[in-house]
Amino acid sequence: MMTQRPGTKGLIFNEPNVWDKSREGRCAISLPKADVERSPLDPALTGDTPNLPQLSELDVVRHYTRLSQWNFGVDSGMYPLGSCTMKYNPKTNEVQAARQGFAGAHPLAGDECSQGALRLMYDLERSLAEITGFDAVTLQPAAGAHGELTGMLIIHAYHAKQGRQRSKIIIPDTAHGTNPASATLCGYKSVNLKSGPKGILEPEAVAEIMDEETAGIMITNPNTLGLFEENIKEICEIVHAKGGLVYGDGANMNAIMGVVQPGKLGIDVLHLNLHKTFSTPHGGGGPGSGPVAVNEKLTPFLPVPRVEKELDTFKFVTDCPDSIGRLHTFYGHFGVMIKAYAYILTMGAQGLLDTSRLAVLNANYIKESLKGTLNLPYDRPCMHECVFNDAKQQEYHISTMDMAKRLLDYGFHPPTVYFPLVVDGAFMVEPTETESKEDIDQFIDAVKAIAKEAQTDPEKLTSAPVLPKVTRLDEVAAARKPCLRG
Ligand SMILES: *Cc1c(COP(=O)(O)O)cnc(C)c1O
Repeated sequence: MMTQRPGTKGLIFNEPNVWDKSREGRCAISLPKADVERSPLDPALTGDTPNLPQLSELDVVRHYTRLSQWNFGVDSGMYPLGSCTMKYNPKTNEVQAARQGFAGAHPLAGDECSQGALRLMYDLERSLAEITGFDAVTLQPAAGAHGELTGMLIIHAYHAKQGRQRSKIIIPDTAHGTNPASATLCGYKSVNLKSGPKGILEPEAVAEIMDEETAGIMITNPNTLGLFEENIKEICEIVHAKGGLVYGDGANMNAIMGVVQPGKLGIDVLHLNLHKTFSTPHGGGGPGSGPVAVNEKLTPFLPVPRVEKELDTFKFVTDCPDSIGRLHTFYGHFGVMIKAYAYILTMGAQGLLDTSRLAVLNANYIKESLKGTLNLPYDRPCMHECVFNDAKQQEYHISTMDMAKRLLDYGFHPPTVYFPLVVDGAFMVEPTETESKEDIDQFIDAVKAIAKEAQTDPEKLTSAPVLPKVTRLDEVAAARKPCLRG
């Protein structure tokens, strides 16, 4: 039984706004005595005296410290949100991105004044090409879904070049939700494909619907069940035989770095999420980056500008007649690229391999530890995440949502709930490689304690959470009429 809970113990301060705390005459600074005579400000020049709060230094420090504690992130605790790779990102990479030479570089400075930045982009493209097993990479797309759109436009341009436009894209039920959206944005009709009983695609099912009207297939691998698509090579052959292309959603690359090169499996185009796998914090609302890697036959269609190297000089090239054009102002989110570059160099090939192995080990440890507690619809070795559901708890009228809310009382950010859609009441956990065994064990203990409460004290779950500052919300009203005042 768990002895200690991380995080919440109820010591969470309410904090009024600074004007409510203000007291006439209180001041946070002490200035030396004036050596000139005081003269009042001329109201004709200054207008009304500004209404500034009057606070002591400690009032100010506590105010902002308390506000900062209402937030939750990887730096404060485990964040097992499946499909999101909420891992710890080394702070040194932020320091590198903030270096004056990078942060102050002007995008209009011209190639000859930007050799360092161009070289970094060139080398990062080469590193990502090596990690993924592709021929060329563009760093322009601003996020994963933007990468998908880029990939779809490339597939569209490829078919147009062949002089035979196609209308459909096959999208499995285990694809990420952004996949059908990206295909639709590109004018394709998405055709849904059911996975087999093992939670992965069956080649026969692909063969049945793949035809010459179909531009290709979009496969998330590892898929959103956290399972590796073991038949990927055969599926690529089937799609290629009918003239189609294979899009790989590589946002889950954190599970397979150094283990598998998707480009060597037959996939034609793939995106990565630098803000998941390569050291940019994910979910903070900051910029992301979704580089797209392609094989040789798709290289001419990559967006412009391309970074090229001639002898020892780097330059932007825009003269690419088959390119799909520009997808971002300037060259994408450069700061995110710096962090990815620094991360790859500090980790090295062995470090990236170890990262993926640990991420997979941690997820399998959770899967094995909790499979007697929660129902596990696909009981197979998983990759970086595992998907349970609430089938066992439904007997006590307890849902995934109730368990997720109760986890907040135990000091954990809940996992992803009700996604992927193929699993009813999904409870999807991605621990990532950066959590220690002790922290993972505490999470496992918390889930076990909650499952026990579901039997003995279900009220505790249906009324949860009780400890956080904000208790259970009306989900619809919270989304439609958000109250941002604390
Ligand atoms: C996160 C994710 C995406 C979308 O990436 P964004 O940067 O959020 O647009 C696409 N596919 C998978 C598998 C993902 O996990």
